[in-house]
Order: sequence, then C-alpha cells, then structure tokens
Amino acid sequence: MSITKTCRITKQPFIVSDKEIAFYKKMGVPIPTISPVERIRIMMSFRNEWKLFKRKCDATGDEIISAYPKDSPFKVYKNEIWWGDSWDATDYGRDFNFNKPFFEQYAELQKEVPREGTSIFNCENSTGEVLACEKCGDEIYSTYTTEREEKIYCEKCYLEEIY
Ligand SMILES: [Zn+2]
Repeated sequence: MSITKTCRITKQPFIVSDKEIAFYKKMGVPIPTISPVERIRIMMSFRNEWKLFKRKCDATGDEIISAYPKDSPFKVYKNEIWWGDSWDATDYGRDFNFNKPFFEQYAELQKEVPREGTSIFNCENSTGEVLACEKCGDEIYSTYTTEREEKIYCEKCYLEEIY
C-alpha cells in the first residue's frame, strides 16, 4: 500500500508507491524524506541544462557554446578536445592533504581540471542551431530541446509540463 510522506524541504505531501517501497526494501535503503521533484532539483543543481553561453575554449581559444559563462572560474574545453587525447586528466591528480579541509581541496581541483563545454553534443537529428522555447521564449541550443506534442520546449518547460 502506498504511503504519503511530507517533504522535509517543501513541507508538501508526496506519495511513495508500493513499487517504490518494495524497491527501497530490496536495496536496503530508507524511504526518502524529500519529494521526487526536490530530489531531482538537488541532483540537477550540479548541472546546467537551462542556459548556454558563448565563450572561448580554454584549450584552443575557439568560440564555443557552453554550459559555463565566460566569467566562470572553471577551465572549459570544447567537447571535441575534452573527449580527445590531447590532454590527460590524470595530469591533474594530486595527493590528498590531510591538514587541509576536504571541500577546500575539492574546490581547488574543480577549478583546475578542464570541463567539457556541454554535456550533450552531436545528437542525432540535431541541427545545432539556437531556437526559442515555445513556452518561455528562452534561447535553447537544439541538442537541448525536447519536443512535446510537436512543440519545441526547453527542458525546464518540458519538465514543468510533465510534473
Ligand atoms: Zn522554456
């Protein structure tokens, strides 16, 4: 039997289905105390799929479309370079300093290791052009569009429609 829980972030009720409860039991994990939408929001907070920026690739200097703005503290490589063999991520490896806080070291490492320009590229049937979301009007790179009932939506609007 499904149960209704109260999300500890939004204080709103959410339903945990029988199948979910069975899955959590099988996996030996507790039933979530945060609603599915909030869990997705937390997971997605490390990703940017809503806004894209024009900036330079930090490896080649080429103009690229990226999830990171030009004033971002991160090194950003165009996707072909990031996925290529011209650099080696293991060059950025370092020993852990037990006398320094973990997150301080993690933040430093995040700023050193190059990131890929976008997490999605070369999608089948993608024209790579910049389009406008039919709901909110935001500019969207065509690899990020989601067709819903033959309308072109940005992912954010698409997710708002289905939830
Ligand atoms: Zn939109």
